[in-house]
Amino acid sequence: MTDFAATRRAFHLPEGITYLDGNSLGPMPLAARDRAASMIRDEWGEMLITGWNRAGWYAQPRRVGDRIARLIGAGPGEVVMGDTLSIKVFQALSAARALRPDRRVILSDSGNFPSDLYVAQGLARAVDAELRVVAPEDVTAAIDGDLAVLMLTEVDYRTGRRHDMAALTERAHAAGALTLWDLAHSAGAVDLDLTGADADFAVGCTYKYLNGGPGAPAFIWTHPRHADAVQPILQGWMGHRAPFAFDQDYAAAPGIERMRVGTPPVIALAVLDAAMDVWEGVAPADLRARSIDLTEAFIAGVEAACPDLVLNSPRDSARRGSQVGFRHPQGYAVMQALIAEGIIGDFRAPDVLRFGFAPLYNDLEDVGRAVEVLARLLRDGSWDRAKFHQLADVT
Ligand SMILES: *Cc1c(COP(=O)(O)O)cnc(C)c1O
Repeated sequence: MTDFAATRRAFHLPEGITYLDGNSLGPMPLAARDRAASMIRDEWGEMLITGWNRAGWYAQPRRVGDRIARLIGAGPGEVVMGDTLSIKVFQALSAARALRPDRRVILSDSGNFPSDLYVAQGLARAVDAELRVVAPEDVTAAIDGDLAVLMLTEVDYRTGRRHDMAALTERAHAAGALTLWDLAHSAGAVDLDLTGADADFAVGCTYKYLNGGPGAPAFIWTHPRHADAVQPILQGWMGHRAPFAFDQDYAAAPGIERMRVGTPPVIALAVLDAAMDVWEGVAPADLRARSIDLTEAFIAGVEAACPDLVLNSPRDSARRGSQVGFRHPQGYAVMQALIAEGIIGDFRAPDVLRFGFAPLYNDLEDVGRAVEVLARLLRDGSWDRAKFHQLADVT
């Protein structure tokens, strides 16, 4: 059994705050703070350029990738870190499309995160492909013989709705297409089995449920059957077979290494590596069970105490990730009032109050406190003040 009291103690959780926004930015693992300091002082400071070999900076993107692989149902040597998620979406999507050169269609859904859709729009323009976007419930019916790549975010950032990765991948394969899964709201939030689902490509970020810190690097996974076949469109020197031969012409490194682009964010990777320590000893099945307990308790609590709110997430836990949304016509102001009371969730336009439940550090007391404060604010109307209606830059 996973010791979730111990994992909670591994985080710095500011006094007086109930943090339900780990789906946007995970809190700081205590080990990350110490690692950042030692990285800068002992590695950058003392080793200078020799740190690439002596401290293993060059191998770090693969080494940290292996730690993430365990959480997403991938094998060792199959995941590499670097860049931002938007760039990794581009890399994986372009690679997948190139494996189906006589097909033009990329299919996604309207629940996908805008950056993924923007990237697909840009790629479609560049390589003469067509992006089709359908409602999440219409994806299965839209898979046909024209499809090159099915590109989906497994857990919808706004509603928490979870796609059936195995079933959709099987369907796409039957139609001769490949799949690309964005795990931004899945990795560290739900149990995942990329290998079992027979997916083709996957990407995700590490600053949400993996707690790698703001701007932490993204990960990319390619199924081993494609890893030596894909030709990356971003042919950077760190993905070259022999970067330090400084050849004029590109030759792809073997396997997932070719998905590296340029110099990795070494300091951020050291921090992420420390954040991954918290995952040692966490069983994916326990994570999922606890996530379901937390989200179910929150839904039941809010529905009993807040009649003005409408559930904006699937009621069936099997179809839901680790977050819950509720709609309120003045959702932005309600969320600002909640944050002023120390309950941090976030708001997604046009009217969704969004709450993420991270099994590593959230518990049933957090759920109880959030429900209690939310119910009080809605009952006494104290959310409806001018200051709570003022829009900030980042919502
Ligand atoms: C959070 C998120 C992103 C953000 O991409 P960045 O390049 O890291 O800013 C992209 N896609 C999805 C599905 C996300 O949830």
